[in-house]
Amino acid sequence: MLDTVLPDPITNDRPTQGAARLRDQHGRVKRKLRLSLTDRCNFRCSYCMPEHPVWLPKASLLTRAELLRMARLAVDQGITHIRLTGGEPLLRAGVRDIVSDLQTLRSSGLQRLSMTSNAERLGELAQPLADAGLDDLNISFDAIDPDVFETLTGRPIAPVLRGINAARAAGLPVKLNAVLIRDRNDHQILPLTRWALEQDLSLRFIEYMPLDQPGRWRPETVMSEAEVLAVLRTQHTVEALPRSAEPATRYRIDGQDRVGVIATVSNPFCGSCDRIRFTATGELFTCLFAQTGTPMGAQMRAGADDDALTETLHRAVWHKQAGYAAQPGPVERTILMHGMGG
Ligand code: SAM
Ligand code: SF4
Repeated sequence: MLDTVLPDPITNDRPTQGAARLRDQHGRVKRKLRLSLTDRCNFRCSYCMPEHPVWLPKASLLTRAELLRMARLAVDQGITHIRLTGGEPLLRAGVRDIVSDLQTLRSSGLQRLSMTSNAERLGELAQPLADAGLDDLNISFDAIDPDVFETLTGRPIAPVLRGINAARAAGLPVKLNAVLIRDRNDHQILPLTRWALEQDLSLRFIEYMPLDQPGRWRPETVMSEAEVLAVLRTQHTVEALPRSAEPATRYRIDGQDRVGVIATVSNPFCGSCDRIRFTATGELFTCLFAQTGTPMGAQMRAGADDDALTETLHRAVWHKQAGYAAQPGPVERTILMHGMGG
């Protein structure tokens, strides 16, 4: 089947086949897929959602069977880690069944099945998701102060705290993600860190990326990794740990390996990027900052067979651009963060 993958028409390079199957023109191998289940969300994080979101038509979202097919194609080509995202993935009807479907891909090479969520619905869903085969959760958690949390997200903190507890009670490893915006929640760096250390939870600070409503992001609102570390050093000992292939640089804080910083803006990790993304309609984005995607969902609905879809996947991945590091700044396109999946 892969013999049908054509060489690049200009360079005559041929995408690598075999073990490291999804390779781009810069030599980066893809191992991780972020699979969006919906663009809808019950939160209104200003750094992600526009003031007046326009949702995708429900009929355009990949069905449960289509999601499994797209995921299977990707796993067959070397993807070992799937992260479910959104919008808010817990709003997707039948999310538990989708997890059980994807769980069947372990025999084809899937090693890890994760989710990124705002946790509001985890109180009722954590245990069913763990039972269905989910391995772990990243939870957005931008403030520990209830008022700041509600101002940032538009929702109260209490159900989120219950959701975090429910996930831990269900045995799901949890990492917290906090997007920092200057003068909005940078004063939460120390309280969040203290709370995460007390709770024995991992916490990653994320630099605010220009992927929200056009015109909203400004460079001066980004709290850079260096600034976050300077704040942490006012009250903690901070020791950098060796960088891995993960996007976060990890730091030992007061002797505990609990805090990371994802410095997409000040120190992009594009050189080691091993990710691809499917939106909820099956549009393939090979980079979070890509201007356009490849409509594989539409191609599937038009009747394409697995060979044709696999060829499209290889070709799109091969042409993946260098990334944000090569072209920093806001991207002009209609899809925003909640449609892309983070
Ligand atoms: N609703 C889920 C959640 O919030 O965890 C999953 C979707 S959300 C789009 C995925 C991740 O993207 C979250 O960790 C969120 O904080 C992050 N995110 C959204 N907009 C961002 C931005 N402009 N800059 C940096 N991270 C952002
Ligand atoms: Fe919703 Fe997540 Fe975006 Fe917040 S970051 S609005 S929770 S999709």
